[in-house]
Amino acid sequence: MKITLDPGHGQFGNPGALPGYYEGTRVFLLAQALKEELEKYRDTEVVITRKTIGDNPSLASRGGEAAKNGSTLFISLHSNAASNPAAHGVSVFRSVKLPESEELGRLLGGAVVNTMKKYTEITYLRGVMTRTDDFGGEILDYYGVIRSSVKGGNVKYSYIIEHGFHTNLTECGCMFDDHTLKELAKAESDVIAAYFGLKRKDEPDEPVGYVEYTVQPGDTLSSIARRYGTTWRVLAEFNGLDDPDLIIDGQIIKIPVKDVIYVGDTVKLKDDKTTYFPGGNPFPGWVKDYYYVVSKTSDSKGRPVYRNGDRCVLLGNKINKRSGAHGTPINSWASVAYIEKVK
Ligand SMILES: [Zn+2]
Repeated sequence: MKITLDPGHGQFGNPGALPGYYEGTRVFLLAQALKEELEKYRDTEVVITRKTIGDNPSLASRGGEAAKNGSTLFISLHSNAASNPAAHGVSVFRSVKLPESEELGRLLGGAVVNTMKKYTEITYLRGVMTRTDDFGGEILDYYGVIRSSVKGGNVKYSYIIEHGFHTNLTECGCMFDDHTLKELAKAESDVIAAYFGLKRKDEPDEPVGYVEYTVQPGDTLSSIARRYGTTWRVLAEFNGLDDPDLIIDGQIIKIPVKDVIYVGDTVKLKDDKTTYFPGGNPFPGWVKDYYYVVSKTSDSKGRPVYRNGDRCVLLGNKINKRSGAHGTPINSWASVAYIEKVK
């Protein structure tokens, strides 16, 4: 997914209660840290509206960038200001056009509050709010960044997050701390990853099944592991072996099998494949008109399913290639060698 982060203002925009604090500098650094956290996830691309710390694009072009670059999520990062130095707390503004974004707004606000409160003890969630204005008879978002981000309808989640008040000495101190800034980035990234079900890049692919190996005289767990391009630790853990040195001839060792196909993946049949099951019948012409959702990679006991010696997955829902509409499941096993993932 694509995400646009918008650190508010310019480099020296909005001094805070502490000398040397500038909102525009701190939120720029927060955006960098948040981008770094988010890009630890697969298929996640983060664009920052200010390319350098000195940039200060117009409000319309900040939101407009998200609207045009295909982002799903837009977050404008800020710290708040008030003439009363006692004012404090976290505010989240969402687009009035996107009522379904309320929940993620609440989760993000909660994550910011929980992080800041550890240090300030006073930070709380002032609310997830909308603010509107009348634009020649049309009620639109008051804030220019939000208003411009939701034009065109690509962006489904658009927020301004006010990370406490920089006019409040305690909350300003929190945002002025590099360690806290990193913690905020991590907390916000965790919420986004969980909400959208993102998978981390550094997590190994989960095995979708295993093959069985019968221990031969002279085998060690290490020698078996080498043969299958894995390590004895992986095999010991996968097989629940308390003592990896103790394997006996004839014992069955399960070798986890990695594959690029996961349950829930959308797949299509490869163009050069003309038979439905491995070694099976030619498939009818209509089969190629659809994508399919992988609904199962193994049987009820967790074993990989083989058909004629090929590892197979169960194809579930049909997805219309043009409209994206889901149809009735076909529930047919197909060789993993016969299908490929659809982005
Ligand atoms: Zn601001």
